[in-house]
Amino acid sequence: MKTSLAKAGILIIILLFSATAKTQVDATHSASDTLTYHLVYVTHNKSCYNYDIQITNKYNEITTNYLVGYGLQHFYYDPSCMTEKDFESYQTPQYTDILIVVYSKNLGREILHENNLGGFFTWVEGTKKDPLRIEVCDCPSHDYGDPVWVLSHELAHFALYYLGFEREVFEGWVHYNQSIYYTYCQEGDYTDSHCPPIFAKLETSNYDYSVMNIPSEAYGVKPPQKKFATEPVVEKTKKTVENKQKTSDKTKQKTTFDYKKATLKKQPIINSKIDSTKAGVYTAQEALYSLNFKNEKAKKEIEKAWTALWWTKKYLKNAETTQKEGENFVSKLKYKEAYYKYHYSLERANKIDKYLVEITDNIKKAKSLEK
Ligand SMILES: [Zn+2]
Repeated sequence: MKTSLAKAGILIIILLFSATAKTQVDATHSASDTLTYHLVYVTHNKSCYNYDIQITNKYNEITTNYLVGYGLQHFYYDPSCMTEKDFESYQTPQYTDILIVVYSKNLGREILHENNLGGFFTWVEGTKKDPLRIEVCDCPSHDYGDPVWVLSHELAHFALYYLGFEREVFEGWVHYNQSIYYTYCQEGDYTDSHCPPIFAKLETSNYDYSVMNIPSEAYGVKPPQKKFATEPVVEKTKKTVENKQKTSDKTKQKTTFDYKKATLKKQPIINSKIDSTKAGVYTAQEALYSLNFKNEKAKKEIEKAWTALWWTKKYLKNAETTQKEGENFVSKLKYKEAYYKYHYSLERANKIDKYLVEITDNIKKAKSLEK
C-alpha cells in the first residue's frame, strides 16, 4: 500500500510536469479502444478569435493533464472552438466517451449561472449514443469559484466515476472538498489551514493552476478493462442481477442461523469499537490542526494525512449510522436485520484503523523532514 502510494505520488508529479501530453487522436482505432474525450469551447463571438482559440487550448491542456494526474490513459480529439450557432448542429465524434463543453463568459452566465449551476457532470446518460458530459464556463465568479477549479471539480466527478468508485466517493468526496473550498478558500486566498489538502498544483506550458486534489485511494486503481462508453449500462445491470442472486442464495443457506444470539454477542463489540475508533479519529484531527510545517515535503506528508483523515470520517459516519439502525432493529426485536447492520457497521469501523496508522506515520515523517 505504502510503496504503491509513494510510486504513484512520484509518477503524478513527473507527469504533471511534462506539460504536453501526446495523447491526441490520429487513428480511429486507438480512439475506439481507449478513453476518449472531446473538448468544445463555445464562444458568444461571431467567430472564433485568437483569444477564443487560446482559451480552447488552455482548457484542453488542463483537462488532459488532470486526467493524467488520475493516471487515466486517454486520447482526445482536437479541441474545437465554435460559435453558438455551430454548436447547435455539432455532433460528437464517433468514439467520444465524454464531451466537455466550456462556454465563454457571456454564454456561461446565461446558460449555467442563471440556472444556479457552476458547472455539471452527467453520468446517467452514459450510453453509446449519448456520451457523458461536462459543462463549465470560463466565468470567474464569486459564487462558484475559479473556473479552472470548477473544471477540476467536474473532472474529479468523472475520473472517480470512471474508476468505478461508488457514488459516496465520486459525488461525496468531491462535494466535501467543495464545501471546504466555499467555506475557507475562496477568491484566491488559500492561506487557511483547511485549504492545502484540497488542492493540487497542475502545471501547464504557460501557467500553474490550483485544482482539486486527487484522493490517494484513486492512485493505482486500474480503469475498467473494457472501453467505458460502449456498455456501462449493460455491465452495471448485469452486476446487480448477479449480486441479487448471490444474496438470495446466502439467505437460503442461513435460515437456521441464530440471529438473536449472534446480534446480542456483536452489540457490545461494535459499541466499544466505535467508541475507541471515534476517539482515535478526533485525536488525529486535533493533532493535524495543531501542526504547521514550512518544509515542502513535510507539508506534502500532512496533505496525505488530511486525505486519510477524510476517509476515517467517512467510514466513521457510515459505521455510526448503521450502528444506530442496528440498535433500532434490536429494539423492535428484528435480530436478523440488526445482525446485518452490525456486521456492516463493524466492517466500516475496522477500515478506519489502517488510516489512523497512516496518519501517525505521515505526522512522524513530516516532523523528521521539518528538522
Ligand atoms: Zn459537483
